[in-house]
Amino acid sequence: MLKRPFNFSAGPAALPEAVLQRAADEMLDWHGSGMSVMEMSHRGKEFISIYEAAERDLRELLAVPSQFRILFMQGGGLGENAVVPMNLSRGGAVDVVVTGSWSKKSLKEAQRYCNAQAAASNEVSRHTALPATSQWRLRSNAAYVHVCSNETIDGVEMHTLPDLAALGCAAPLVVDASSHILSRSVDWSRVGLLFAGAQKNIGPAGVTIVIVREDLIGHALAICPSAFDYQCVADNQSMYNTPPTYGIYIAGLVFQWLKAEGGVAEMDRRAQAKADLLYHTLDHSGGFYANRVAHDARSRMNVPFFLADETLNDAFLAGAKEAGLLQLKGHKSVGGMRASIYNAMPLEGVQALVNYMQDFARRHG
Ligand SMILES: *Cc1c(COP(=O)(O)O)cnc(C)c1O
Repeated sequence: MLKRPFNFSAGPAALPEAVLQRAADEMLDWHGSGMSVMEMSHRGKEFISIYEAAERDLRELLAVPSQFRILFMQGGGLGENAVVPMNLSRGGAVDVVVTGSWSKKSLKEAQRYCNAQAAASNEVSRHTALPATSQWRLRSNAAYVHVCSNETIDGVEMHTLPDLAALGCAAPLVVDASSHILSRSVDWSRVGLLFAGAQKNIGPAGVTIVIVREDLIGHALAICPSAFDYQCVADNQSMYNTPPTYGIYIAGLVFQWLKAEGGVAEMDRRAQAKADLLYHTLDHSGGFYANRVAHDARSRMNVPFFLADETLNDAFLAGAKEAGLLQLKGHKSVGGMRASIYNAMPLEGVQALVNYMQDFARRHG
């Protein structure tokens, strides 16, 4: 088989090769149906079986309790920045913990629909450290508290979800887990709603996963479009409007692949091994490379890093491409480099990256 390069894109991101191969094999004729999945009615028994398997496997992988509904929606993480306040805020107070570019966007968008405020912000550290939970200013009347548990651009991750009840806050926690869902288990006792766009750690862009506690459904503002009202979506098994069928199918193949590989516990173990290898290399490069995030807040999925001599950036990227290491350029708001090492990235890929980095440093140090 063709040896493909390692792809470090932040999203849309690499998919497991076995999943792409299987999708290719099934492209023209899914399971003897004579149809591509793209050509099937979403109401036919073939697609319904694909949909039900995907939902069941996701529930199993993340051990989602029965009082949570799993919705397959559209609109992405940015869409949910509006959809969540339209469904959960009741037009009242909402507290947002600002830890990076994505939660900042969530706050701004929520302000269009409700009285949203920053409960804390790590802006002073330029999004390189997490604000201590003891410093969060949570309002007693907040309809919910929003956090982004992995800031894809800044490379900042909450290694455990906050326990709002222990902070004396009764509001449900809303979690944007777009870029690290399925890399670790979720403590559902701390969560009211968790959402994730698929294109980082699940599948193709176009599918948005929403996992929401049942009692939070049914309170949408009157202005909320029916297709984005969780009640309407849940009542219609995510098929009020035509769902992104092909994306759900690929996500389902990824869920099957995850189960075969050992599930979320195994992904958690691999994520730690990959992150340890990459951060160790950065921290022991004699200052040639640097990651600026506080150690206890470093993301296991998105690793931004800088060359001390930034005039070497173009040479670094060109050499990486030649070595079969793709899409390492950092986000334009941060600069430098970024290696995204999601579930589909094998340890072998991170090993190839650190080998290249060490070689590059020797040649230019
Ligand atoms: C990518 C990303 C988003 C935005 O997703 P879209 O699908 O582009 O709307 C939101 N939040 C996080 C944490 C992300 O990584």
